[in-house]
Amino acid sequence: MDPAFEAETLHSTGIYAKHPVAFVRGEGATLWDSAGRAYIDCMAGHGVANLGHAHPAVALAVAEQARRLITCHEAFYNDQRAAALERLAHLRAGLDRVYLCNSGTEAVEAAFKFARLSTGRPGIVAAMRGFHGRTLGALSATWNKHYREPFQPLVPGFRHVAFNNIQALEETVDDHTAAVVLEVVQGEGGVHVADPAYLAAAQRIGRERGALLIIDEVQTGLGRTGKLLAVEHFDLTPDMLCLAKSIAGGIPMGAVLVGQAVGGFAPGTHGSTFGGNPLACAACVAALGAVIDDRLPEQAAEKGAYLMARLREIESPLVREVRGLGLMLGIELRRRVAPYLDALLNLGVIALPAGLTVIRLLPPLVITFPQLDSVIEALRTVLAQPIEDSDVAA
Ligand SMILES: *Cc1c(COP(=O)(O)O)cnc(C)c1O
Repeated sequence: MDPAFEAETLHSTGIYAKHPVAFVRGEGATLWDSAGRAYIDCMAGHGVANLGHAHPAVALAVAEQARRLITCHEAFYNDQRAAALERLAHLRAGLDRVYLCNSGTEAVEAAFKFARLSTGRPGIVAAMRGFHGRTLGALSATWNKHYREPFQPLVPGFRHVAFNNIQALEETVDDHTAAVVLEVVQGEGGVHVADPAYLAAAQRIGRERGALLIIDEVQTGLGRTGKLLAVEHFDLTPDMLCLAKSIAGGIPMGAVLVGQAVGGFAPGTHGSTFGGNPLACAACVAALGAVIDDRLPEQAAEKGAYLMARLREIESPLVREVRGLGLMLGIELRRRVAPYLDALLNLGVIALPAGLTVIRLLPPLVITFPQLDSVIEALRTVLAQPIEDSDVAA
């Protein structure tokens, strides 16, 4: 048994359900465990490793910057932060100011605070099945009761409406609403893609009623859906756009891109000790460069279309639907997915769930076509017949 199992079991809180595998090295879409066995990664650390593991440009940038300067508070200027801000501010026309933080939930948290600051209103309207993070503000916008209920009371002023339902937005957004927050493809909630008409209506209703539109691209950002940002599929320019997961090639970093309608940023209204640190910013500059140089959005579009088509060919009575955008795919089963994920892991394929009945595939965008074929073969094998939970445990 790997010594990491014992140490982690003894000294971590138990707050994560763990698989009995210790990963020690990665390259592209391949991970190796401590026994030297290779796996195909279709999880990418929950959508972090879009560039692939140990991307050389990111590794070099981090190593060089670590020797030069790791920390520099935003009370002072820094060359790496300036470079990261310039790049982030050019991701989407109209969103040319950026707040830097360290994770997805912090980006969402900041966007909510900015929305309240800017509008003087308390309300946030979020979508059913939406996921926005686990700190108390972001959690208040997250839908899943399993995440929310043990932590009541949450932040007041939050309401949830049915996703892709324009009427529900019409009825709910009012002059107490600071912002509507949406994912363009709901990730944790089961890989549900927004209707273009729904997003257009969210933008229109917000503008008519003085509420801001926050798009949470923490999971969909940086090439994942086949565009650099998923809003490009929908010709959508929100008032704020949240990024994290992959924006610094795996180094923790979050960002909120902010449009002209958002204001009130007096010094001291918000902040973060680690936000905008030179190490993460250097990684971000390298990662954003690599996304373009390696044509990752185009790769995600091509490979996503291939994978989707091949997955839809799998004839299994277990499969209810295959859906998604780019390399963000969900296979909804008629059963709980946990034993199928365990069976895939036994075959050397790492996938993740989205809710109880959806297998979610979020591979690094550099995954190769032969690797995709192996993933499809493994899925064909595990979906050939029903698996009972007890079969896998045995
Ligand atoms: C993962 C995720 C978050 C939370 O990000 P953390 O870095 O885990 O805090 C927020 N929103 C969406 C859409 C996510 O997928």
